[in-house]
Amino acid sequence: MNASYGLGRDRGVNALEGQTIAVLGYGRQGRAHALNLRESGARVLIGLRPEGASRKLALEDGFGSSLHSVAEVVREADLVCFLLPDMVQPSLYLEEVASNLREDAALLFAHGLSIHYRMIVPSGNHDVILVAPKGPGALVRRQFQEGKGVPCLIAVHQNTSGKAKEKAHHYAHMIGGTRAGILETSFKEETETDLFGEQAVLCGGATELVKAGFETLVAAGYQPELAYFECMHELKLIVDLLYEGGLTKMHEFISDTAKYGTLESGTRVIDKHVRQNMQEILNEIQDGRFAARWKKEYDNGLANYRNALSRELHHPIEEIGRGLRSQMSWLQKQAGGDEHDRS
Ligand code: NDP
Ligand code: MG
Repeated sequence: MNASYGLGRDRGVNALEGQTIAVLGYGRQGRAHALNLRESGARVLIGLRPEGASRKLALEDGFGSSLHSVAEVVREADLVCFLLPDMVQPSLYLEEVASNLREDAALLFAHGLSIHYRMIVPSGNHDVILVAPKGPGALVRRQFQEGKGVPCLIAVHQNTSGKAKEKAHHYAHMIGGTRAGILETSFKEETETDLFGEQAVLCGGATELVKAGFETLVAAGYQPELAYFECMHELKLIVDLLYEGGLTKMHEFISDTAKYGTLESGTRVIDKHVRQNMQEILNEIQDGRFAARWKKEYDNGLANYRNALSRELHHPIEEIGRGLRSQMSWLQKQAGGDEHDRS
């Protein structure tokens, strides 16, 4: 294990004591951070656009007197946290943040993308730090409320004050991260591994695997409901075992037949060609081609992105799944499912 991974509040860090923290955005990460920071005793201001939908939520959560425009909260802040969509950050930085920043204000990101690909280039006066929870926002909040936390990656891009790392540690501590573990990294490593993970394994890879399995069974004449259970529903049971105890625990719990089949067929599905594809995806992340494509699509109005998303959401597995899930009473209890967001 990396020696920099550790539990607890390292070195008694208090680098943000008495400072004003501006949280820009009140979405998945923003809401969780703002609430956790407030309960950890920090002075938190929320910066939002006037007409946005998340204002209502911030008001309901009691942030009324702390809720202002982005420009206003940035002017007061010792630490400015970019907790809004990655593609929104660069223009917001240019138009509302840069000219209002206090000279010694620090900037914080929950993902390194806009700094690493130089979509935001802060002046040298500012500490620039990363605190990236390795979990969705609602989990960051719920774990904190239960006295637990979500592991956080921390990194420093600029250390003007000499205390940048301590600030990242203290922030991670206040949102609950030190209860779970802190791993030091760089903006480059966090950005590239996060993008690779979500594209090749967690979101892109896993969903294509599920759809391919479902389509193969349905095309062969099996009932779609059964294909859904086999390829999507049961995935959670396996992922839970992997999460709790790795490959070892999964192999402890599955039958000998499943084990034999796993060992024989797994590498036929994820074969050399799939590994080559993964390598190409990683290359395009590393040399900036992926980020450039995404920025271009965003700047051009997102038409291709919306079409592709719509095709995905209308896949036959969705219709079958909706019908089956509506009969699963335990799923209705957690309606909204907001703890499962991830970016
Ligand atoms: P969200 O999409 O949840 O952010 C929504 C918030 O951003 C809302 O308050 C929204 O306000 C505001 N916003 C959106 N567009 C604009 C705009 N054009 N101008 C001003 N405000 C805007 O973001 P996430 O929490 O998903 O992501 C935030 C950061 O955290 C990103 O860097 C992401 O990579 C990172 N991250 C996210 C994770 C997750 O769990 N989702 C996990 C780890 C890191 P309004 O109501 O006005 O629209
Ligand atoms: Mg991500």
